[in-house]
Amino acid sequence: MNIIFLGPPGAGKGTHAQKLMNELEIPQISTGDMLRQAIKAETELGILAKGFIDRGELVPDEVVIGIVKERLAQQDCQKGYILDGFPRTVPQAEALSQFAKIDCALNLSLADEVIIGRLSGRRVCLKCGATYHTSTLNGRTDCAACGDELVQRKDDTPETIQNRLTVYAAQTAPLIDYYQEKGMLRTVECTGTVEENHRAVRKALGVE
Ligand code: AMP
Repeated sequence: MNIIFLGPPGAGKGTHAQKLMNELEIPQISTGDMLRQAIKAETELGILAKGFIDRGELVPDEVVIGIVKERLAQQDCQKGYILDGFPRTVPQAEALSQFAKIDCALNLSLADEVIIGRLSGRRVCLKCGATYHTSTLNGRTDCAACGDELVQRKDDTPETIQNRLTVYAAQTAPLIDYYQEKGMLRTVECTGTVEENHRAVRKALGVE
C-alpha cells in the first residue's frame, strides 16, 4: 500500500507513520527527517535547506520532488511506503502523480491550540527520528529507542511554529480538497490518546 500522511505540523504524522512502518513492514519516508539528516551531515542539500527550515518555510518544490523521486525508486519501496510530510504543495502532488501510484491520502486533523502545546514540548532524536514530549520524559535527555541525544528542533519555537501553521494553511491545506476530489482522501480526527488515534488511523486505512 502506498500511503500519504497529510495534516498540520504536530498532528502526529511522524508518530503514526513510524508505528505503521513497523506494523506493515513498509518504509516511512519523511522528507523532514531526510532534510534534517542532510543538515546534520552538512551536505549541499542540507546547506540549501537549512535557512528555509529554520524560518518555518517550505524548501523549494524541485528540491524535495527530486529527493522523493530518488527515494521511491529504491528496492525497499517496491512493496509500499508511507509518505510523511510529502507532498506539501499542489505542484508536489502533481509531480508525485507522474512517478507514483498512491492508494490513499490520510488527513490527520487537529486544532491549532493543541498543536502549539504539542510542538513546543516536542523533543526529537536526530539519529532515528523518534519523537517524545517533555511531559512524558521525566527529565530524560536520551532516546529510549537508540540512546542518542534528544534535542528541540529549531523550528519548534513559538514564532516558527506560528509561521509553519500559516504556511500549512496557505500551501498544504489545499491538498485536502485536491485528494478529496480524486476520491483518495480519508480523514482522522486526532483528538484522543496516541493509541486511540492509531486505532482510528488503522481503521481508516482498512488494516484493523
Ligand atoms: P517536518 O519534519 O515534516 O515537519 O518538516 C520540517 C521542515 O522541513 C518543514 O517545515 C519544511 O521546511 C521542510 N520540509 C519537509 N517536507 C517538505 C516538503 N514536502 N516540501 C517543502 N519543505 C519540506
